[in-house]
Amino acid sequence: VRPSIKPYPEISVRRLNSFLGLIAILAACSSESDIETSRSESELPELSAQGIADHMRILASDDFFGRGPGHLGGDLASAYIAEQFSEYGLEAPGGSYFQTVPMVGMTTDPTTVKLSFTGPEGAITPTYLDEFVLNAGDPLAARVGGDAELVFAGYGAIAPENEWNDFQGIDVQGKYLLILVNDPPASPSEPDLFGGVAMTYYGRWTYKYEEAARQGALGAIIVHETEPAGYPWSVVRGGWSGEQFALPLNPTDTRPAGMVGWVSESVAQRALATAGYDYEELKNRAATRGFTAVETGITVSASVESTSRDVETRNVVAVRRGSTRPDEYLTVTSHYDHFGVGESIAGDSIYNGAYDNASGTALLLEVAHAISGSQTPLGRSVLFIATAAEEQGLLGAERYVRSPIYPLSQTVAEINLDGANLWGLTDDIIVHGEERSELGNYVRPRATQLGLTLRPDAEPEKGFFFRSDHFPFAKAGVPSLWIEHGRDYRGQPAGWGAQLQADYTANRYHAPSDEFSAEFTFDGAVQQGAL
Ligand SMILES: [Zn+2]
Repeated sequence: VRPSIKPYPEISVRRLNSFLGLIAILAACSSESDIETSRSESELPELSAQGIADHMRILASDDFFGRGPGHLGGDLASAYIAEQFSEYGLEAPGGSYFQTVPMVGMTTDPTTVKLSFTGPEGAITPTYLDEFVLNAGDPLAARVGGDAELVFAGYGAIAPENEWNDFQGIDVQGKYLLILVNDPPASPSEPDLFGGVAMTYYGRWTYKYEEAARQGALGAIIVHETEPAGYPWSVVRGGWSGEQFALPLNPTDTRPAGMVGWVSESVAQRALATAGYDYEELKNRAATRGFTAVETGITVSASVESTSRDVETRNVVAVRRGSTRPDEYLTVTSHYDHFGVGESIAGDSIYNGAYDNASGTALLLEVAHAISGSQTPLGRSVLFIATAAEEQGLLGAERYVRSPIYPLSQTVAEINLDGANLWGLTDDIIVHGEERSELGNYVRPRATQLGLTLRPDAEPEKGFFFRSDHFPFAKAGVPSLWIEHGRDYRGQPAGWGAQLQADYTANRYHAPSDEFSAEFTFDGAVQQGAL
């Protein structure tokens, strides 16, 4: 039985000096009658900006080699976090601060990767990494590929609630699918189709590969376009080359598609042209109701050879025990991993992941520090999880949800941090998922209390709700939030924050240039943590 979280009614704006409100409230509150208690219990110590800065600088330094899972850097980072938890005097669940995350690591041999498209009007052979990436979908498959027909699958979605089926009446078993990124756009006649502007899960590449596997496709190739993908080609190139990790398959899991990859928009155009198809025209058709996948008559010839190894990484876990409901849990997650050492860009091969996510990990540590040092009893227990292998597909969080240390039925809520505010105080704050559960009823008054306007997702088309570690919890039915930061920076002109974020996405996201900078400030992170 899931403990119910009742709506939290308006509270007066009078305790502006209280910090760590939401955690205290969620850990304490079970009914409206608890409001008085929870209000007093939200009087917790202020977070230290210096503490956040110090943890972030350390975790983002080259000494941690980009915190790659299954590598020394990842192990050093998890050891560092466990050390902090221990120093704070937090409880180690079952005697250990670590939950192992077994993974299969798969490395594609770049010299074996081949992809070509041959149609009645020509043939093209694009360039690996510059124009396409390709990996085995099943990490244990040593060699995959073969010749088969290319099917243009539109958005590759079967969405009964939208009365949409791109695979209606067509058998794509054993074929290669070419799939558009994001979900079908809304139209003037159907403004709410697939969530309107917002990306639904049908827009995520994870869904597209899952659906391709269910359809029995031999391979699934997504067409990258910067705007609907939400990031440039360099992110695809970096993320899909080098060692790839997955959780070991359960016997009940759907077998993944044999081969998964991405091509640039230009490759898609040229490939389809080998059979006289116009990419833009097909794309327009794919956006219309009633579209079904097109058998193109183009032959794809592809192969990939790879090696795999069993490897472990670990989530770092610690509990602040509750006083009255110690067996009910609020989880607070933040991923500590990043991409480790990879392809050198501008002479730098360490992917430090400073903002993503040494910053969030540092904030989690400082929140854990403050909560552990507080004399105020909390009703429920708070479980801190510094998650592993998020960048590999939310693997650490997925592992926790599949094998929770404490039953999910006793987990009342999940709060995730991914990216701390490094640029100053804001007047607003973005909380992903607040509209998806009753948790919004707790967040809104708390934001008001702190003088923060709750801003709707600034980039709903990018599907951020599906892109961090709260999502596996949400899928498993745990009410979940991701507390991001705002965009309206105090003392800055309008649009400054949005520009900052756009610049980060274009130039530093998942690149070696996501580094610690002496320019960063941490009062904004304190504000974020205060929520
Ligand atoms: Zn992240």
